[in-house]
Amino acid sequence: MEDHSVIVIGGGISGLATAWWLHKTGHNVIVLERDISVGGTMKTVPDNGWLIETGPNSALETTPLFKTLYADLHLESELIYANEKSDNRYILKNGSLLPLPMAPGKFLKSKLWSVNGKLRLLKEPFVGRAGKEETIAEFVTRRLGKEFLDYAINPFVAGVYAGNPEQLSVRAAFPKLYALEEKYGGLIKGQIKGVRERKRRAEKAKDRSRLFSFVNGIQTLPDALSKALGAKIRTGVTVETISMKPIDNHNGSFLYELSGKEKGNAVTFSAPVVVMAIPAYHAAELLRPITPTITESLSKIFYPPVAEVFLGFEENRIGIPLDGFGFLVPAKEQRKILGTIWSSAIFPNRAPKGFAALTTFVGGSRQPEVLNADDKELTSIAVGELHSIMKITGEPSYVRVTRWRRAIPQYHLGHLAIVEQIERFEAEHPGFFISGNFRGGIAVGDCVINSEKISGRVLEYFTRRSQ
Ligand SMILES: Cc1cc2nc3c(=O)[nH]c(=O)nc-3n(C[C@H](O)[C@H](O)[C@H](O)COP(=O)(O)OP(=O)(O)OC[C@H]3O[C@@H](n4cnc5c(N)ncnc54)[C@H](O)[C@@H]3O)c2cc1C
Repeated sequence: MEDHSVIVIGGGISGLATAWWLHKTGHNVIVLERDISVGGTMKTVPDNGWLIETGPNSALETTPLFKTLYADLHLESELIYANEKSDNRYILKNGSLLPLPMAPGKFLKSKLWSVNGKLRLLKEPFVGRAGKEETIAEFVTRRLGKEFLDYAINPFVAGVYAGNPEQLSVRAAFPKLYALEEKYGGLIKGQIKGVRERKRRAEKAKDRSRLFSFVNGIQTLPDALSKALGAKIRTGVTVETISMKPIDNHNGSFLYELSGKEKGNAVTFSAPVVVMAIPAYHAAELLRPITPTITESLSKIFYPPVAEVFLGFEENRIGIPLDGFGFLVPAKEQRKILGTIWSSAIFPNRAPKGFAALTTFVGGSRQPEVLNADDKELTSIAVGELHSIMKITGEPSYVRVTRWRRAIPQYHLGHLAIVEQIERFEAEHPGFFISGNFRGGIAVGDCVINSEKISGRVLEYFTRRSQ
Protein backbone atom coordinates (compact mmCIF):
# COMPACT_ATOMS: atom_id res chain seq x y z
CA MET A 1 0.00 0.00 0.00
CA GLU A 2 1.40 3.41 -1.00
CA ASP A 3 0.38 6.31 1.27
CA HIS A 4 -0.03 9.80 -0.12
CA SER A 5 -1.68 12.97 1.03
CA VAL A 6 -3.66 13.51 -2.21
CA ILE A 7 -4.45 11.05 -5.00
CA VAL A 8 -5.68 12.47 -8.30
CA ILE A 9 -7.38 9.91 -10.54
CA GLY A 10 -7.08 10.88 -14.22
CA GLY A 11 -4.24 12.60 -16.05
CA GLY A 12 -6.29 14.80 -18.39
CA ILE A 13 -5.97 18.58 -18.07
CA SER A 14 -8.41 18.63 -15.10
CA GLY A 15 -6.38 16.16 -13.06
CA LEU A 16 -2.94 17.43 -14.09
CA ALA A 17 -3.70 21.08 -13.37
CA THR A 18 -5.22 20.20 -9.96
CA ALA A 19 -2.09 18.21 -9.12
CA TRP A 20 0.07 21.12 -10.24
CA TRP A 21 -1.61 23.72 -8.00
CA LEU A 22 -1.41 21.32 -5.04
CA HIS A 23 2.20 20.41 -5.77
CA LYS A 24 3.07 24.11 -5.78
CA THR A 25 1.78 24.37 -2.22
CA GLY A 26 4.05 21.50 -1.18
CA HIS A 27 1.52 18.67 -0.98
CA ASN A 28 2.48 15.06 -1.56
CA VAL A 29 0.24 14.43 -4.55
CA ILE A 30 0.16 11.56 -7.02
CA VAL A 31 -1.69 11.32 -10.36
CA LEU A 32 -2.91 7.91 -11.53
CA GLU A 33 -3.54 7.77 -15.27
CA ARG A 34 -4.84 4.73 -17.11
CA ASP A 35 -3.25 5.47 -20.49
CA ILE A 36 0.45 5.20 -21.23
CA SER A 37 0.58 8.97 -21.73
CA VAL A 38 -1.10 11.93 -20.05
CA GLY A 39 -3.41 14.49 -21.67
CA GLY A 40 -6.68 12.56 -21.93
CA THR A 41 -8.54 14.29 -24.73
CA MET A 42 -5.64 16.69 -25.42
CA LYS A 43 -3.53 14.67 -27.84
CA THR A 44 -1.35 15.77 -30.78
CA VAL A 45 0.11 13.44 -33.38
CA PRO A 46 3.07 14.68 -35.46
CA ASP A 47 3.43 12.77 -38.74
CA ASN A 48 5.80 13.59 -41.57
CA GLY A 49 5.31 17.36 -41.57
CA TRP A 50 1.65 17.20 -40.53
CA LEU A 51 0.56 18.08 -37.01
CA ILE A 52 -2.75 16.45 -36.16
CA GLU A 53 -4.81 17.49 -33.16
CA THR A 54 -7.00 14.52 -32.35
CA GLY A 55 -9.01 16.37 -29.67
CA PRO A 56 -9.02 20.14 -29.05
CA ASN A 57 -7.34 22.11 -31.85
CA SER A 58 -6.79 25.17 -29.65
CA ALA A 59 -7.94 26.74 -26.39
CA LEU A 60 -9.23 30.17 -25.43
CA GLU A 61 -7.13 32.09 -22.93
CA THR A 62 -10.13 32.81 -20.72
CA THR A 63 -8.20 32.92 -17.46
CA PRO A 64 -4.93 34.49 -16.24
CA LEU A 65 -4.15 31.03 -14.80
CA PHE A 66 -2.86 30.10 -18.27
CA LYS A 67 -0.20 32.82 -18.01
CA THR A 68 0.81 31.38 -14.62
CA LEU A 69 1.07 27.94 -16.19
CA TYR A 70 3.16 29.16 -19.17
CA ALA A 71 5.56 30.85 -16.72
CA ASP A 72 5.69 27.93 -14.24
CA LEU A 73 6.31 25.46 -17.06
CA HIS A 74 8.61 27.72 -19.17
CA LEU A 75 6.29 27.48 -22.17
CA GLU A 76 6.43 31.12 -23.32
CA SER A 77 8.72 30.39 -26.27
CA GLU A 78 6.45 27.59 -27.53
CA LEU A 79 3.19 29.46 -27.13
CA ILE A 80 1.45 30.61 -30.34
CA TYR A 81 -1.64 32.72 -30.77
CA ALA A 82 -4.12 32.27 -33.62
CA ASN A 83 -3.59 34.24 -36.79
CA GLU A 84 -5.58 37.51 -36.69
CA LYS A 85 -7.73 36.34 -39.60
CA SER A 86 -9.09 33.56 -37.37
CA ASP A 87 -11.61 36.05 -36.01
CA ASN A 88 -13.42 35.47 -39.33
CA ARG A 89 -15.88 32.60 -39.02
CA TYR A 90 -18.20 31.30 -41.68
CA ILE A 91 -21.65 29.73 -41.56
CA LEU A 92 -23.01 27.58 -44.37
CA LYS A 93 -26.28 28.80 -45.86
CA ASN A 94 -27.84 27.41 -49.03
CA GLY A 95 -24.51 25.91 -50.03
CA SER A 96 -22.49 29.15 -49.61
CA LEU A 97 -20.13 30.17 -46.82
CA LEU A 98 -21.34 33.47 -45.36
CA PRO A 99 -19.25 35.44 -42.84
CA LEU A 100 -20.59 35.57 -39.30
CA PRO A 101 -20.95 39.32 -38.68
CA MET A 102 -18.93 40.59 -35.74
CA ALA A 103 -20.10 44.24 -35.80
CA PRO A 104 -23.61 45.82 -35.86
CA GLY A 105 -23.10 47.34 -39.35
CA LYS A 106 -22.08 43.96 -40.77
CA PHE A 107 -25.00 42.28 -39.01
CA LEU A 108 -27.46 44.58 -40.80
CA LYS A 109 -25.91 43.73 -44.19
CA SER A 110 -25.55 39.97 -43.49
CA LYS A 111 -27.45 37.51 -45.66
CA LEU A 112 -27.60 34.97 -42.84
CA TRP A 113 -30.94 36.35 -41.63
CA SER A 114 -33.94 37.89 -43.41
CA VAL A 115 -35.07 41.48 -42.71
CA ASN A 116 -37.82 40.06 -40.49
CA GLY A 117 -35.29 37.90 -38.66
CA LYS A 118 -33.16 40.98 -37.96
CA LEU A 119 -36.14 43.14 -36.95
CA ARG A 120 -37.12 40.41 -34.47
CA LEU A 121 -34.04 41.38 -32.44
CA LEU A 122 -35.60 44.77 -31.71
CA LYS A 123 -38.15 43.00 -29.50
CA GLU A 124 -35.44 41.36 -27.38
CA PRO A 125 -35.18 44.05 -24.65
CA PHE A 126 -38.92 43.71 -24.00
CA VAL A 127 -39.03 39.91 -23.62
CA GLY A 128 -39.66 38.73 -20.04
CA ARG A 129 -38.09 35.85 -18.15
CA ALA A 130 -39.18 32.23 -18.73
CA GLY A 131 -39.87 31.11 -15.17
CA LYS A 132 -38.73 27.51 -15.88
CA GLU A 133 -35.54 25.70 -16.87
CA GLU A 134 -35.18 26.05 -20.65
CA THR A 135 -33.10 24.50 -23.39
CA ILE A 136 -30.80 26.85 -25.28
CA ALA A 137 -33.19 26.47 -28.26
CA GLU A 138 -36.19 27.61 -26.19
CA PHE A 139 -34.22 30.47 -24.64
CA VAL A 140 -32.90 31.80 -27.96
CA THR A 141 -36.21 31.39 -29.79
CA ARG A 142 -38.02 33.26 -27.00
CA ARG A 143 -35.49 36.09 -26.83
CA LEU A 144 -34.11 36.38 -30.37
CA GLY A 145 -36.36 34.40 -32.68
CA LYS A 146 -36.14 31.15 -34.63
CA GLU A 147 -33.90 32.44 -37.44
CA PHE A 148 -31.22 33.43 -34.96
CA LEU A 149 -31.44 29.97 -33.43
CA ASP A 150 -31.08 28.29 -36.82
CA TYR A 151 -28.21 30.32 -38.29
CA ALA A 152 -26.22 31.41 -35.22
CA ILE A 153 -26.85 29.31 -32.13
CA ASN A 154 -27.50 25.92 -33.72
CA PRO A 155 -24.13 25.87 -35.56
CA PHE A 156 -22.35 27.40 -32.56
CA VAL A 157 -23.67 24.63 -30.28
CA ALA A 158 -22.50 22.05 -32.82
CA GLY A 159 -19.05 23.69 -32.83
CA VAL A 160 -18.63 23.84 -29.06
CA TYR A 161 -20.50 20.80 -27.70
CA ALA A 162 -21.12 18.76 -30.86
CA GLY A 163 -24.53 19.13 -29.24
CA ASN A 164 -28.18 19.62 -29.91
CA PRO A 165 -29.70 22.99 -28.81
CA GLU A 166 -33.07 21.30 -28.27
CA GLN A 167 -31.52 19.27 -25.42
CA LEU A 168 -28.85 21.44 -23.76
CA SER A 169 -29.87 23.40 -20.68
CA VAL A 170 -29.16 27.11 -21.18
CA ARG A 171 -28.45 27.59 -17.50
CA ALA A 172 -26.04 24.66 -17.24
CA ALA A 173 -24.36 24.82 -20.66
CA PHE A 174 -24.30 28.60 -21.27
CA PRO A 175 -24.35 30.13 -17.79
CA LYS A 176 -23.00 33.50 -18.96
CA LEU A 177 -25.78 33.92 -21.51
CA TYR A 178 -28.35 32.90 -18.95
CA ALA A 179 -26.83 35.33 -16.44
CA LEU A 180 -27.35 38.25 -18.85
CA GLU A 181 -31.09 37.67 -18.63
CA GLU A 182 -31.01 37.04 -14.89
CA LYS A 183 -28.84 40.04 -14.03
CA TYR A 184 -29.84 42.64 -16.58
CA GLY A 185 -33.22 41.43 -17.85
CA GLY A 186 -32.03 40.82 -21.43
CA LEU A 187 -29.11 40.01 -23.71
CA ILE A 188 -28.82 43.36 -25.48
CA LYS A 189 -29.14 45.35 -22.21
CA GLY A 190 -26.67 42.94 -20.63
CA GLN A 191 -24.15 43.40 -23.45
CA ILE A 192 -24.30 47.19 -23.20
CA LYS A 193 -24.18 47.32 -19.41
CA GLY A 194 -21.53 44.59 -19.31
CA VAL A 195 -19.23 46.65 -21.60
CA ARG A 196 -19.70 49.72 -19.34
CA GLU A 197 -19.03 47.72 -16.17
CA ARG A 198 -15.95 46.07 -17.65
CA LYS A 199 -14.67 49.49 -18.77
CA ARG A 200 -15.11 50.78 -15.24
CA ARG A 201 -13.18 47.79 -13.87
CA ALA A 202 -10.64 48.02 -16.76
CA GLU A 203 -11.34 44.36 -17.60
CA LYS A 204 -11.13 42.64 -20.97
CA ALA A 205 -14.31 41.03 -22.36
CA LYS A 206 -14.24 37.25 -22.29
CA ASP A 207 -15.18 37.15 -25.97
CA ARG A 208 -11.92 39.01 -26.71
CA SER A 209 -9.87 36.20 -25.12
CA ARG A 210 -7.15 34.98 -27.44
CA LEU A 211 -7.05 31.56 -29.01
CA PHE A 212 -3.79 29.73 -28.40
CA SER A 213 -1.87 26.55 -28.95
CA PHE A 214 1.83 25.66 -29.07
CA VAL A 215 4.35 25.23 -31.88
CA ASN A 216 4.19 21.47 -31.40
CA GLY A 217 0.48 21.31 -30.68
CA ILE A 218 -1.94 21.45 -27.77
CA GLN A 219 -0.48 18.35 -26.08
CA THR A 220 2.51 20.51 -25.14
CA LEU A 221 0.54 21.74 -22.10
CA PRO A 222 -0.30 18.36 -20.49
CA ASP A 223 3.16 17.06 -21.41
CA ALA A 224 4.83 20.03 -19.70
CA LEU A 225 2.67 19.54 -16.58
CA SER A 226 3.62 15.88 -16.56
CA LYS A 227 7.32 16.67 -16.92
CA ALA A 228 7.18 19.23 -14.12
CA LEU A 229 5.35 16.80 -11.82
CA GLY A 230 7.92 14.08 -12.65
CA ALA A 231 7.60 10.95 -10.51
CA LYS A 232 4.25 12.16 -9.17
CA ILE A 233 2.71 11.05 -12.46
CA ARG A 234 2.00 7.34 -12.74
CA THR A 235 0.83 6.37 -16.20
CA GLY A 236 -0.49 2.91 -17.05
CA VAL A 237 -2.39 2.74 -13.73
CA THR A 238 -6.12 1.97 -13.91
CA VAL A 239 -8.04 2.55 -10.71
CA GLU A 240 -10.61 -0.24 -10.38
CA THR A 241 -12.10 0.06 -6.89
CA ILE A 242 -12.38 2.64 -4.15
CA SER A 243 -13.20 1.96 -0.51
CA MET A 244 -13.15 4.18 2.55
CA LYS A 245 -12.72 3.90 6.32
CA PRO A 246 -12.97 6.49 9.10
CA ILE A 247 -9.66 7.85 10.39
CA ASP A 248 -9.24 7.53 14.19
CA ASN A 249 -8.76 10.84 16.04
CA HIS A 250 -9.91 12.79 12.99
CA ASN A 251 -13.57 13.31 13.49
CA GLY A 252 -15.53 12.88 10.30
CA SER A 253 -12.57 12.28 7.99
CA PHE A 254 -11.80 9.19 5.96
CA LEU A 255 -8.92 7.29 4.51
CA TYR A 256 -9.64 6.33 0.91
CA GLU A 257 -8.13 3.13 -0.42
CA LEU A 258 -7.78 2.66 -4.16
CA SER A 259 -6.86 -0.53 -5.88
CA GLY A 260 -6.21 -1.24 -9.50
CA LYS A 261 -3.71 -2.45 -12.06
CA GLU A 262 -0.34 -1.01 -13.00
CA LYS A 263 0.84 -2.60 -16.23
CA GLY A 264 -1.02 -5.80 -15.31
CA ASN A 265 0.10 -5.96 -11.64
CA ALA A 266 -2.21 -5.31 -8.67
CA VAL A 267 -1.51 -2.01 -6.89
CA THR A 268 -3.11 -0.22 -3.92
CA PHE A 269 -2.88 3.40 -2.80
CA SER A 270 -4.33 5.28 0.14
CA ALA A 271 -4.85 8.95 0.99
CA PRO A 272 -7.17 11.14 3.06
CA VAL A 273 -7.93 13.16 -0.09
CA VAL A 274 -9.00 11.90 -3.51
CA VAL A 275 -9.68 14.11 -6.51
CA MET A 276 -11.49 12.16 -9.20
CA ALA A 277 -10.93 13.77 -12.62
CA ILE A 278 -12.18 11.14 -15.05
CA PRO A 279 -15.20 11.06 -17.42
CA ALA A 280 -18.60 10.74 -15.71
CA TYR A 281 -19.29 7.23 -17.07
CA HIS A 282 -16.01 5.92 -15.53
CA ALA A 283 -16.60 7.83 -12.29
CA ALA A 284 -20.09 6.31 -12.07
CA GLU A 285 -18.70 2.77 -12.10
CA LEU A 286 -15.98 3.47 -9.54
CA LEU A 287 -18.45 5.08 -7.14
CA ARG A 288 -21.12 2.36 -7.37
CA PRO A 289 -19.93 0.45 -4.25
CA ILE A 290 -19.82 3.68 -2.20
CA THR A 291 -23.30 4.95 -3.12
CA PRO A 292 -25.53 3.87 -6.00
CA THR A 293 -27.35 7.25 -6.17
CA ILE A 294 -24.33 9.11 -7.50
CA THR A 295 -23.75 6.30 -10.00
CA GLU A 296 -27.27 6.75 -11.31
CA SER A 297 -26.84 10.52 -11.64
CA LEU A 298 -23.43 10.38 -13.35
CA SER A 299 -24.58 7.64 -15.74
CA LYS A 300 -27.28 9.97 -17.06
CA ILE A 301 -24.71 12.33 -18.63
CA PHE A 302 -24.69 11.69 -22.37
CA TYR A 303 -21.44 11.78 -24.37
CA PRO A 304 -22.20 11.63 -28.12
CA PRO A 305 -19.70 10.08 -30.51
CA VAL A 306 -17.61 12.43 -32.67
CA ALA A 307 -15.03 11.79 -35.37
CA GLU A 308 -12.33 14.22 -36.43
CA VAL A 309 -11.37 13.71 -40.04
CA PHE A 310 -8.05 15.41 -40.65
CA LEU A 311 -7.40 15.98 -44.36
CA GLY A 312 -4.35 17.42 -46.08
CA PHE A 313 -4.79 18.96 -49.54
CA GLU A 314 -2.40 20.69 -51.89
CA GLU A 315 -3.20 24.39 -51.43
CA ASN A 316 -3.85 24.91 -55.13
CA ARG A 317 -6.75 22.44 -54.99
CA ILE A 318 -8.73 24.66 -52.62
CA GLY A 319 -11.15 26.95 -54.42
CA ILE A 320 -11.72 29.53 -51.66
CA PRO A 321 -9.37 31.70 -49.58
CA LEU A 322 -8.56 30.19 -46.16
CA ASP A 323 -9.03 33.55 -44.46
CA GLY A 324 -10.61 32.50 -41.19
CA PHE A 325 -11.04 29.93 -38.46
CA GLY A 326 -13.26 27.72 -40.59
CA PHE A 327 -16.98 27.15 -40.98
CA LEU A 328 -19.93 25.66 -39.11
CA VAL A 329 -22.93 23.93 -40.57
CA PRO A 330 -26.47 24.64 -39.26
CA ALA A 331 -28.67 21.53 -38.91
CA LYS A 332 -31.13 23.12 -41.37
CA GLU A 333 -28.58 22.72 -44.16
CA GLN A 334 -28.94 18.92 -43.84
CA ARG A 335 -25.28 18.11 -44.42
CA LYS A 336 -23.32 15.18 -43.05
CA ILE A 337 -20.64 17.22 -41.24
CA LEU A 338 -20.76 19.63 -38.29
CA GLY A 339 -18.07 21.95 -39.55
CA THR A 340 -14.42 22.29 -40.51
CA ILE A 341 -11.50 24.03 -38.84
CA TRP A 342 -8.92 25.46 -41.26
CA SER A 343 -6.12 24.24 -39.01
CA SER A 344 -3.12 25.34 -41.08
CA ALA A 345 -4.59 28.82 -41.62
CA ILE A 346 -4.86 29.39 -37.85
CA PHE A 347 -1.47 28.20 -36.61
CA PRO A 348 1.86 27.64 -38.39
CA ASN A 349 3.49 24.22 -38.47
CA ARG A 350 0.28 22.22 -39.11
CA ALA A 351 1.00 21.14 -42.69
CA PRO A 352 4.04 20.77 -44.98
CA LYS A 353 4.81 23.76 -47.23
CA GLY A 354 2.33 24.07 -50.10
CA PHE A 355 -0.36 22.04 -48.32
CA ALA A 356 -3.37 22.93 -46.19
CA ALA A 357 -4.64 21.00 -43.15
CA LEU A 358 -8.41 20.88 -42.62
CA THR A 359 -10.08 19.23 -39.62
CA THR A 360 -13.70 18.20 -40.15
CA PHE A 361 -16.03 17.14 -37.33
CA VAL A 362 -18.65 14.47 -37.93
CA GLY A 363 -21.41 12.96 -35.76
CA GLY A 364 -22.20 14.54 -32.38
CA SER A 365 -25.70 14.62 -30.89
CA ARG A 366 -27.02 15.76 -34.27
CA GLN A 367 -25.99 12.67 -36.24
CA PRO A 368 -24.49 10.00 -33.93
CA GLU A 369 -25.40 7.31 -36.49
CA VAL A 370 -22.82 8.68 -38.98
CA LEU A 371 -20.16 7.13 -36.74
CA ASN A 372 -21.41 3.66 -37.76
CA ALA A 373 -19.52 4.23 -41.01
CA ASP A 374 -15.97 2.87 -41.27
CA ASP A 375 -12.96 5.18 -41.64
CA LYS A 376 -13.00 4.96 -45.43
CA GLU A 377 -16.66 5.97 -45.57
CA LEU A 378 -16.13 8.79 -43.03
CA THR A 379 -13.28 10.10 -45.16
CA SER A 380 -15.38 9.97 -48.27
CA ILE A 381 -18.24 11.82 -46.48
CA ALA A 382 -15.84 14.59 -45.37
CA VAL A 383 -14.09 14.83 -48.75
CA GLY A 384 -17.43 14.93 -50.60
CA GLU A 385 -18.75 17.75 -48.40
CA LEU A 386 -15.51 19.75 -48.72
CA HIS A 387 -15.52 19.32 -52.50
CA SER A 388 -18.92 20.94 -52.57
CA ILE A 389 -18.62 23.53 -49.77
CA MET A 390 -15.00 24.65 -50.21
CA LYS A 391 -14.77 24.03 -53.96
CA ILE A 392 -11.90 21.60 -53.47
CA THR A 393 -10.84 19.40 -56.36
CA GLY A 394 -9.19 16.00 -56.27
CA GLU A 395 -8.32 13.66 -53.45
CA PRO A 396 -6.54 14.52 -50.18
CA SER A 397 -2.79 13.94 -49.93
CA TYR A 398 -3.10 12.98 -46.28
CA VAL A 399 -5.92 11.45 -44.19
CA ARG A 400 -6.23 10.60 -40.53
CA VAL A 401 -9.50 9.73 -38.79
CA THR A 402 -9.85 9.92 -35.00
CA ARG A 403 -12.97 8.55 -33.35
CA TRP A 404 -14.22 9.57 -29.92
CA ARG A 405 -16.80 6.98 -28.95
CA ARG A 406 -17.88 9.21 -26.07
CA ALA A 407 -16.62 12.71 -26.85
CA ILE A 408 -18.05 15.63 -24.92
CA PRO A 409 -20.44 15.58 -21.93
CA GLN A 410 -23.78 17.17 -22.76
CA TYR A 411 -25.23 19.48 -20.13
CA HIS A 412 -28.82 18.50 -20.91
CA LEU A 413 -31.95 19.74 -19.11
CA GLY A 414 -31.66 18.39 -15.57
CA HIS A 415 -27.85 18.68 -15.51
CA LEU A 416 -27.90 21.10 -12.59
CA ALA A 417 -29.76 18.51 -10.50
CA ILE A 418 -26.88 16.10 -11.24
CA VAL A 419 -24.39 18.76 -10.11
CA GLU A 420 -26.37 19.18 -6.86
CA GLN A 421 -26.18 15.41 -6.37
CA ILE A 422 -22.39 15.58 -6.80
CA GLU A 423 -22.22 18.40 -4.23
CA ARG A 424 -24.27 16.34 -1.75
CA PHE A 425 -21.97 13.36 -2.31
CA GLU A 426 -18.91 15.50 -1.60
CA ALA A 427 -20.49 16.93 1.57
CA GLU A 428 -21.18 13.38 2.82
CA HIS A 429 -17.67 12.17 1.90
CA PRO A 430 -15.19 14.66 3.37
CA GLY A 431 -11.91 14.61 1.45
CA PHE A 432 -13.48 13.29 -1.79
CA PHE A 433 -13.68 15.77 -4.66
CA ILE A 434 -15.24 15.19 -8.06
CA SER A 435 -13.79 17.10 -10.99
CA GLY A 436 -13.72 16.84 -14.78
CA ASN A 437 -15.33 18.51 -17.75
CA PHE A 438 -18.88 17.37 -16.86
CA ARG A 439 -18.89 19.98 -14.11
CA GLY A 440 -18.29 23.72 -14.56
CA GLY A 441 -17.62 23.80 -18.32
CA ILE A 442 -16.15 21.68 -21.08
CA ALA A 443 -13.51 24.05 -22.50
CA VAL A 444 -9.86 23.53 -21.61
CA GLY A 445 -9.97 26.96 -19.90
CA ASP A 446 -12.95 25.88 -17.77
CA CYS A 447 -11.06 22.74 -16.72
CA VAL A 448 -8.06 24.87 -15.68
CA ILE A 449 -10.27 27.32 -13.73
CA ASN A 450 -12.07 24.44 -12.00
CA SER A 451 -8.81 22.66 -11.17
CA GLU A 452 -7.66 25.74 -9.29
CA LYS A 453 -10.99 25.93 -7.42
CA ILE A 454 -10.79 22.24 -6.46
CA SER A 455 -7.20 22.64 -5.25
CA GLY A 456 -8.38 25.57 -3.11
CA ARG A 457 -11.11 23.37 -1.62
CA VAL A 458 -8.54 20.63 -0.89
CA LEU A 459 -6.33 23.13 0.94
CA GLU A 460 -9.31 24.38 2.97
CA TYR A 461 -10.12 20.79 3.86
CA PHE A 462 -6.57 20.17 5.16
CA THR A 463 -6.70 23.39 7.17
CA ARG A 464 -10.07 22.43 8.73
CA ARG A 465 -8.76 18.94 9.53
CA SER A 466 -5.69 20.24 11.29
CA GLN A 467 -7.73 22.53 13.60
C1 LIG B 1 -13.15 16.01 -30.23
C2 LIG B 1 -13.00 17.06 -29.17
C3 LIG B 1 -12.69 18.37 -29.52
C4 LIG B 1 -12.56 19.34 -28.54
N1 LIG B 1 -12.22 20.62 -28.90
C5 LIG B 1 -11.99 21.55 -27.94
C6 LIG B 1 -11.47 22.84 -28.29
O1 LIG B 1 -11.23 23.12 -29.46
N2 LIG B 1 -11.24 23.73 -27.28
C7 LIG B 1 -11.49 23.43 -25.97
O2 LIG B 1 -11.26 24.29 -25.09
N3 LIG B 1 -11.96 22.21 -25.61
C8 LIG B 1 -12.21 21.27 -26.55
N4 LIG B 1 -12.65 20.03 -26.21
C9 LIG B 1 -12.96 19.75 -24.79
C10 LIG B 1 -11.72 19.53 -23.92
O3 LIG B 1 -10.69 18.96 -24.69
C11 LIG B 1 -12.05 18.59 -22.78
O4 LIG B 1 -13.23 19.02 -22.12
C12 LIG B 1 -10.93 18.49 -21.74
O5 LIG B 1 -9.69 18.24 -22.37
C13 LIG B 1 -11.29 17.39 -20.75
O6 LIG B 1 -10.28 17.23 -19.80
P1 LIG B 1 -10.50 16.31 -18.52
O7 LIG B 1 -9.21 16.22 -17.83
O8 LIG B 1 -11.67 16.79 -17.74
O9 LIG B 1 -10.94 14.87 -19.10
P2 LIG B 1 -10.13 13.85 -20.06
O10 LIG B 1 -9.30 14.58 -21.03
O11 LIG B 1 -11.17 12.92 -20.56
O12 LIG B 1 -9.16 13.09 -19.06
C14 LIG B 1 -9.60 12.07 -18.18
C15 LIG B 1 -8.46 11.08 -17.97
O13 LIG B 1 -8.87 10.11 -17.01
C16 LIG B 1 -8.27 8.85 -17.38
N5 LIG B 1 -9.02 7.77 -16.71
C17 LIG B 1 -10.30 7.39 -16.96
N6 LIG B 1 -10.63 6.38 -16.12
C18 LIG B 1 -9.55 6.12 -15.34
C19 LIG B 1 -9.29 5.20 -14.27
N7 LIG B 1 -10.21 4.32 -13.85
N8 LIG B 1 -8.05 5.20 -13.69
C20 LIG B 1 -7.10 6.09 -14.10
N9 LIG B 1 -7.31 6.99 -15.11
C21 LIG B 1 -8.52 7.01 -15.71
C22 LIG B 1 -8.42 8.85 -18.89
O14 LIG B 1 -7.52 7.92 -19.48
C23 LIG B 1 -8.09 10.31 -19.24
O15 LIG B 1 -6.71 10.50 -19.51
C24 LIG B 1 -12.77 19.01 -27.17
C25 LIG B 1 -13.08 17.68 -26.82
C26 LIG B 1 -13.19 16.71 -27.80
C27 LIG B 1 -13.49 15.30 -27.42
